[in-house]
Amino acid sequence: MAEMTPMMQQYMETKRQYADCILFYRLGDFYEMFFEDALTVSKELELTLTGKNCGMEERAPMCGVPYHAVEGYLSRLVSKGYKVAICEQVEDPKLAKGLVKREVVRIVTPGTNLNIQSLEENKNNFLMCIAYFAGKTGISVADVTTGDYLLTEVEDNRKLLDEIMKYMPSEIICNDAFLVSGVDFEDLKERLGIAIYSLEPHYFDDDLCRKCLLKHFGVNSLSGLGVDEFPNGVIAAGALLSYLYDTQKIPLSHFTHIEPYLTNRYMLLDSSTRRNLELTETLREKQKRGSLLWVLDKTKTAMGARMLRSFLEQPLIHKTEMEERLDAVEAFCNNPLARDELREYLNPIYDLERLLGKVSYKTANPRDLIAFRNSMEMLPHIKTVLKELPGAANQKIEEEIDGLEDLFALIGESIEEEPPITIREGGMIREGYNEDIDTLRRAKTEGKNWLADLENTERERTGIKNLRVKYNKVFGYYLEVTKSYLNMVPEDYVRKQTLTNAERYTTPRLKELEDTILNAEDKLCTLEYDLFCEIRDQIAGEIERIQTTAKAVARLDVFCSFSLVAEQNQYTRPKLNEKGLIHIKDGRHPVVEKMIEHDMFIPNDTHLDNNTRQIAVITGPNMAGKSTYMRQTALIVLMAQIGSFVPARQADIGIVDRIFTRVGASDDLASGQSTFMVEMSEVANILRNATRNSLLILDEIGRGTSTFDGLSIAWAVIEHISNRKLLGAKTLFATHYHELTELEGKMSNVNNYCIAVKEKGDDIVFLRKIIKGGADKSYGIQVARLAGVPDLVIDRAKEIVEQLSDNDITEKVQSISIAENNAPSKKQEHYDELDLDQISLFDTVTDADVLEELKNVEVSTMTPLDALNTLYRLQNKL
Ligand code: ADP
Repeated sequence: MAEMTPMMQQYMETKRQYADCILFYRLGDFYEMFFEDALTVSKELELTLTGKNCGMEERAPMCGVPYHAVEGYLSRLVSKGYKVAICEQVEDPKLAKGLVKREVVRIVTPGTNLNIQSLEENKNNFLMCIAYFAGKTGISVADVTTGDYLLTEVEDNRKLLDEIMKYMPSEIICNDAFLVSGVDFEDLKERLGIAIYSLEPHYFDDDLCRKCLLKHFGVNSLSGLGVDEFPNGVIAAGALLSYLYDTQKIPLSHFTHIEPYLTNRYMLLDSSTRRNLELTETLREKQKRGSLLWVLDKTKTAMGARMLRSFLEQPLIHKTEMEERLDAVEAFCNNPLARDELREYLNPIYDLERLLGKVSYKTANPRDLIAFRNSMEMLPHIKTVLKELPGAANQKIEEEIDGLEDLFALIGESIEEEPPITIREGGMIREGYNEDIDTLRRAKTEGKNWLADLENTERERTGIKNLRVKYNKVFGYYLEVTKSYLNMVPEDYVRKQTLTNAERYTTPRLKELEDTILNAEDKLCTLEYDLFCEIRDQIAGEIERIQTTAKAVARLDVFCSFSLVAEQNQYTRPKLNEKGLIHIKDGRHPVVEKMIEHDMFIPNDTHLDNNTRQIAVITGPNMAGKSTYMRQTALIVLMAQIGSFVPARQADIGIVDRIFTRVGASDDLASGQSTFMVEMSEVANILRNATRNSLLILDEIGRGTSTFDGLSIAWAVIEHISNRKLLGAKTLFATHYHELTELEGKMSNVNNYCIAVKEKGDDIVFLRKIIKGGADKSYGIQVARLAGVPDLVIDRAKEIVEQLSDNDITEKVQSISIAENNAPSKKQEHYDELDLDQISLFDTVTDADVLEELKNVEVSTMTPLDALNTLYRLQNKL
């Protein structure tokens, strides 16, 4: 290293400290990369590789990007999973003695990318921190562009994965334990494109994490933050915060609060259910069009769009919260004019949350502030309209929206209406805001007059008619004389520059004027810059008020959107019940009805409960509409639970704690597991994790194996679900095994439905109507014909079918008796009163277990009622 040039030595030293990053090293107007970094980046970004003399024999490989276009290059690199350290010149090169001092000012990673242009505006860019511990894993999530910051804890890997799928972070930081937790993180990296970095152990030090949070929020105890119950969540949140401090190197003033949440505050949706129900993107094309979000999102602001997405990603399970949202939506449905007026006011509102991010990072420019002012202008109008509307929900939003009149006035008085983007070249501050600025500006305009006078006197004195005073950045002010007048130039002119057609001169008087004018100019730019920063800091001081307002505006936007969608699509307000009753009259599939011709969708009813209508076995030919029907039921329930109106004439929705779906597995083929294996592991997950209050959508279980195996598995699964001792969840079960319709007669809570078709000679017509009873035929051959399979094949298939009578199998099926533990018994009724969720399918209880449990009972801390219940439970286990 000793042979290297001093600058190269400085580079090497910095690179050593940031060895895991690509170092963008500022050299004048460029960020340069050297050695390995240069090789990598030139390949990834297709930049020309050059070399730089570094003092050693061989030149150092080098490539660079211009500083003004750096954001685009940065985004491309981080989206490929690289971390980039930005090393700036931290002193003015003109004033530096020797080598200019440089420091790394920020580290950019996928989860801390600030380039809003490269991020989707209706989606958060989340960074997730996982503090993995056996027992309970802490999770914290943050978005540096908006200041959203949350924490929670989960008990097992599956729930951890569910959280990852919910937030879909672009980057996960974790402790080493996560890497050996058995979570398939290669899959997360490869398939979902999430960058994963493990951090050094000190980030996860309990004590340091607590201190970091206390210091950031300026509080004495964590209980003030409401995070007491989440000790491991606190570790994740603390590690995340110190990582942000280390990489962002700013005070993160837009992180004004942290939100602890319980995963069981929301409906549990596992990742395959999210995908199957096509909540935010379609299963195959992975696009928004065709998803539920596509139908529901008519928001006007980026904040509203992000909130609507988060509503969809986490449906509620508490009735009061749902009712509150529904009330707000109803108020707008009853006052469409007010709603439409509000939507007009929402329209120009800028992304306040991301603006605050920029304010906090000190990257907000004057145009951002003008956009902010234009947004604030709308707030008082919004408040006025809301005040007139009925309903507590709207009044709450009205109260949460701060009119921010003071900030509106501040920006209005101080910033020019059409300011430049740059903040170093002046022209931003309005006249009348600051006296010094006005004086300096006058000096500048007066300077122009001085120059005009000078031009005139010099023309007269020299007789050069076309003599002009001009200015350029390099030479400053000069007198320009064209070649033909050169002989008239007086002796006191000092030559500055020669051009082909003209010569440029200066004089002592011109020099004097130049100094005064340029000085004023310099001073003006500095003063304007200082004032602008002051105004920006003043806004930074009000971050909390603006954030609360932004969230309230977002909620308002979502409710207006729900209301508009409800009106345009004739949705109704669902009633909610906690009795497990799902009654839907004339329900429709919200997406399919929009994809087919207008008014062609055939509505259908759904009746499910935890009693005699617990399981619906749905048969009918392929293409009849089975899966559409089942998904529509799940979507209607989900929509009700996010607070939206629903596509039905009437709906009474029993709140469900989880929705599970098991639908075709085509898209999992990429992960390398066999379809049947995927199918069965999903079934296993459902049977283990569903509760009596869940809704199960099972489509063609058992399809991936031989008929007998498949039928037997499907049969056993239905028996298991129908058994209230074991599960008892409400279930829609579509199948092409019509043998399963035999179950209706054998179990009181299973009912057969089919989707009606009409035979017309050799053809069938789909009626799309669900009716009671089982389909007696599968019409497979007719469907094949509809699909265009050649007649020759169809005819042959018919011949074969006639020879293959399935009488045998029907007879056999009829003779199967129901598993013993499914027969209703007295004991089962007792179970119904107990907490069934606690009883797992795989528990086999022995007397020794009961004794063990008895030994562990803490008698001294029990209430008499607890004691009685425990005794009762233990007795039942024997
Ligand atoms: P299955 O699951 O029985 O094979 P699908 O549910 O996939 O059938 O439905 C096949 C097609 O039928 C859908 O793509 C849709 O276009 C149409 N369809 C389904 N249900 C309805 C309905 N209720 N009204 C109108 N068209 C429907």
